Amino acid sequence: MTVYLDANASEPLRPAAFEVMARAAFLSGNPSSIHAEGQAARRVLEDARQVLAEAFGTEADGVIFTSGGTEANALALHAFRRQRLAMGATEHDAIRTPARRHAQVTALDVTPEGALDIDALGAFLDSGDAALVCVMAANNETGVLHPIREIAALCRSAGAWLHVDAVQAAGRVPVTLDTLGADSLAISGHKFGGPKGAGALLTRAATVDPLIQGGGQERGRRGGTPPLPAIAGMAAALREALAEDGSQQRVWRDRIEAAAREVGARVAGADAPRLGQTSALVLDGVAAQTQLIALDLAGYAVSAGAACSSGKVAFSHVLDAMGYGVAAGHAIRVSLPWNVEESDVEGFIAAYRAMALRLGGAGRRA
Ligand code: PLP
Repeated sequence: MTVYLDANASEPLRPAAFEVMARAAFLSGNPSSIHAEGQAARRVLEDARQVLAEAFGTEADGVIFTSGGTEANALALHAFRRQRLAMGATEHDAIRTPARRHAQVTALDVTPEGALDIDALGAFLDSGDAALVCVMAANNETGVLHPIREIAALCRSAGAWLHVDAVQAAGRVPVTLDTLGADSLAISGHKFGGPKGAGALLTRAATVDPLIQGGGQERGRRGGTPPLPAIAGMAAALREALAEDGSQQRVWRDRIEAAAREVGARVAGADAPRLGQTSALVLDGVAAQTQLIALDLAGYAVSAGAACSSGKVAFSHVLDAMGYGVAAGHAIRVSLPWNVEESDVEGFIAAYRAMALRLGGAGRRA
């Protein structure tokens, strides 16, 4: 059986979320209907909204349910599409791709450790009227946490809107609109053990320009009957994720990194504040694809960069922006799920060591 160490692509579903989903799936009513069945469904929807509102520090009105992180980010960007935008160079494609439609886009440099270069942001804000700044809370490939509070202070004094893609941070490290100083946040249920297919935009905006128009759901901000089981499951998963402190994962993550270094690997962003369950391991000279195949054959599911780009050659724009050059094609990501066990970690270390000793040696198999 494969050992799953690819939590940043998708966390395994939490049984508590599944139980809630199964109950919600048998509610026949549409939350927009007036009758008792409709109102029962409405209560489940509004309870889930309240869980998210409390978790992320907003009013219930500030929660807009979406199909996931990609849609939440796209919705945040949509209102600013004719305006000037800056984003971190290491953003996920869920920001980089819709950003291309904007009138003017600037990619802000990151430091060699992968955190946004504050001076680059300052220069951008000084250079004209900025409407929107997008920076992720935690990077999906390295786990590096950007200095969002500092970024928020600069944006506030320049009058720019700060949108934070919190898809990888939510449920893993404390993120609220207030503690970050953000104006909006995107989150995604399947990244903290909920089902795929539900996410949310948490926003301070009084009006939102909808991407999907329809029957006036979500107060006219996102049309379509909401996927009640997925939303209820997301809220249940969030509750459980927030009750965990991740300290055990951090210990095991450190053990993996120490073992990887012993066989010549580098850890991208190692000295930056970062998520406790993510490692970007660079094995110079060994193509990421080759590493993935070797580990897959040994029974370990990890990834190279973003899962969404499967099929593409595994060259990481994140590591490239951090200055890794050709080694940006030689990195794999290990991300420990909520239910990882010590034997999984020990087994992975043995498999990685064997793979690195067999294939390693800078420059041999670039
Ligand atoms: N933002 C980040 C940082 C991500 O890692 C991902 C998914 O990997 C997304 C956005 C997209 O989220 P979803 O898969 O829910 O659309």
